[in-house]
Amino acid sequence: MAGSADENRGTVSAQLLRGQKALVTGANSGIGMATAIALGRAGADVVVNYVAGADEAEKVVAQIKDFGVRAYAHEADVSDEAQVVAMVARMVEAFGTIDIMVANAGLQRDAAATEMTLAQWQKVIDVNLTGQFLCAREAAKEFLRRGVVEEVSRAAGKIICMSSVHQIIPWSGHVNYASSKGGVAMLMQTLAQELAPQRIRVNAVAPGAIRTPINRDAWSSPEAEADLLRLIPYRRVGDPEDIANAVVALASDLLDYVVGATLYVDGGMTLFPGFATGG
Ligand code: NAD
Repeated sequence: MAGSADENRGTVSAQLLRGQKALVTGANSGIGMATAIALGRAGADVVVNYVAGADEAEKVVAQIKDFGVRAYAHEADVSDEAQVVAMVARMVEAFGTIDIMVANAGLQRDAAATEMTLAQWQKVIDVNLTGQFLCAREAAKEFLRRGVVEEVSRAAGKIICMSSVHQIIPWSGHVNYASSKGGVAMLMQTLAQELAPQRIRVNAVAPGAIRTPINRDAWSSPEAEADLLRLIPYRRVGDPEDIANAVVALASDLLDYVVGATLYVDGGMTLFPGFATGG
């Protein structure tokens, strides 16, 4: 008997990443949580990184283990070099290696530019940009050490940077965040160029408006949601799973020839909807 669409999707994707080892940063909330679960469903063993909120992280681990794969939670601040180095080293010890690094952790510290403190600026750059660099660097070292294992994947490793539509859309009141994501775009492309000859694929996913705690104010009241929908040609706010599915696809050999790309998953937000009626 045919299962539901969801069951069928699960059946197909359970083969997709079998035997691969993935680490997702900021995986006890929102997009990171959905991504860690989707990677587990696709057959990968998963490290669930978090910086605060151990209970949530353990719940994610339990959900992933239900797929019959391995998972554990690891507390680390992605902007702290020693903690990132230790996190990847522990993973190599526990799982043998790493195949997929999802540099997802991110935050906002919003303020008008003239009111923004250096601490607000620095915190966002440290976590959103430096954190992604450190995670990518540590993963790449292990990919280079191990090289390609054909039975596992055609690539020596995959790095997926969580960017944002704000890598290209300026965002007043958020100069630290938009700058960090603009930086992520160039971080991703430069790493992709540098590491592609070693069969390491570096790509990014750029979400539009996704329903998570980071932007609760933008969708939690009907008025706010109506405002937001005006920016989205597809007229729906995204779900974390929309992003998780894109990450799974990018991490898999289905997209083995995709190198240095940003996949916008935004319901058309980057199509300049303000110009839809002529401009
Ligand atoms: P979220 O707040 O639900 O999740 C962010 C996660 O990052 C949390 O688990 C948080 O604890 C973690 N984190 C923050 N600082 C950290 C640190 N120093 N070390 C480790 N983890 C840390 O928000 P989200 O929407 O799921 O955001 C995930 C990523 O997606 C971010 O990079 C964000 O910029 C990006 N993004 C989100 C949207 C959206 O609409 N929600 C849109 C574009 C991009």
